Amino acid sequence: MTSNNKMKEHIITLSAEETPTSWYNIQADLPESLSPPLDSTTLKPINPQLLERIFAKELVRQEISAERYIKVPEEVFDAYLRLPRPTPLYRAKRLEKYLKTPARIYFKCEHFSPTGSHKTNTAIAQAYYNKKQGINRLVTETGAGQWGTALAFSCAIFGLKCRIYMVRASFQQKPGRRIIAQVYGAEMFPSPSDQTNFGRKLLKENSNHPGTLGIAISEAIEDTLTSEDTRYSLGSVLNHVLLHQTIIGLEAKKQFELIDAYPDVVCGCIGGGSNYAGFGFPFMMDKLKGKTDTEFVACESKAVPHTTRGVYTYDFGDTAETTPLLKMLTIGHGYACPPIHAGGLRYHGMAPLISYLINKGYMRSVAYSQTEIFEAAKMLAQTEGLIAAPETAHSLKYVVDEALKCKKTGEEKVIAMNYSGHGLLDLTAYEQFLANKLVNYEPQKIKVPAFQVKKGG
Ligand SMILES: *Cc1c(COP(=O)(O)O)cnc(C)c1O
Repeated sequence: MTSNNKMKEHIITLSAEETPTSWYNIQADLPESLSPPLDSTTLKPINPQLLERIFAKELVRQEISAERYIKVPEEVFDAYLRLPRPTPLYRAKRLEKYLKTPARIYFKCEHFSPTGSHKTNTAIAQAYYNKKQGINRLVTETGAGQWGTALAFSCAIFGLKCRIYMVRASFQQKPGRRIIAQVYGAEMFPSPSDQTNFGRKLLKENSNHPGTLGIAISEAIEDTLTSEDTRYSLGSVLNHVLLHQTIIGLEAKKQFELIDAYPDVVCGCIGGGSNYAGFGFPFMMDKLKGKTDTEFVACESKAVPHTTRGVYTYDFGDTAETTPLLKMLTIGHGYACPPIHAGGLRYHGMAPLISYLINKGYMRSVAYSQTEIFEAAKMLAQTEGLIAAPETAHSLKYVVDEALKCKKTGEEKVIAMNYSGHGLLDLTAYEQFLANKLVNYEPQKIKVPAFQVKKGG
């Protein structure tokens, strides 16, 4: 197996027996514990038990756990194998050749899942724990629809009802993923909707309100709180979501072992931070222990510069101010995210775990414009034949720049990137790019609230 993989090195695969059976919880290895979520009215730490009305019990437990490894339940493991996992580690040799770089470029292929992104890794786990607890129905929100399709898929395979509040503008303009979720049996409503008090109030003011992710979150939470048999599900940001995604990096680490390599650079794109954390944290474990000096680079949009221009402070997770306060890098929960095509990167905050690591200097981040990232995506399509999601293309841009730097210096760096999803449902974005019609949005006004958090809580 090893020598075979070494010789070929085009695609590094793992067998089912070699698949990791636990997730990695980075909270066990941080130099200090994370600042806890706060109740926004008292500014005191939230009692985790209160969260059990919103999330499945086991997910709340995982959210605050300090155990280093958490076992993947058998049913989840079985569903992972059918995604299929393990996903391949792909060497982008034709891209290397085109760039004439001595660097070696590797992609971890998360675009092979039925819905085309990494999001199924946590959707499956969340559906499973809710089902096991006897919950009947999951409710969530979705923007462009990647998370909605992943949760609808997972509810279908575990036999749960699924309801999704989809940002109205996307519901109307981007029907592809809405239809996919409906085929899986999910109930889809354009948000603001007539299903909640909050939605009805907004519709009264404007019957064709375009909606925002923040509004959709508020509707999903209101819906959850009005039905006893229902729980809410979130696709990124929170610790338990990042935990489930570490299956990506744990596999990748084994795959690099098989070819006797270790990444010099670990990169990926960041919306809420889950795919990059999932890929990067198992490698970050070694850096936290002082074993490596691997560089960690997170890539975002210049139009939503949540980590490159954000403030590390407490802020709301949603626009309507319904969630607890999270300590994170944020550009403010009222930030008007411009309509970039990378819908998955349009979020004002960043996962508390990623925010902490950037703030402490363990990771750094970079930001790109729409035109730059589509240039890189076109280069990839014309060398490797892969059509990347606009989100994924942000880290491609970084990879291309880094590989060209290596060409100048002669460094044979090993560059590892998480290929978070394909772009086959984002073709109108590519069409606009080819027609030179893409807009490079400027960052909007950044206004971050200042909460006077009391010491000792
Ligand atoms: C949702 C999404 C992202 C951004 O979300 P993270 O939680 O930061 O991973 C990135 N890429 C793709 C393909 C996505 O669907």
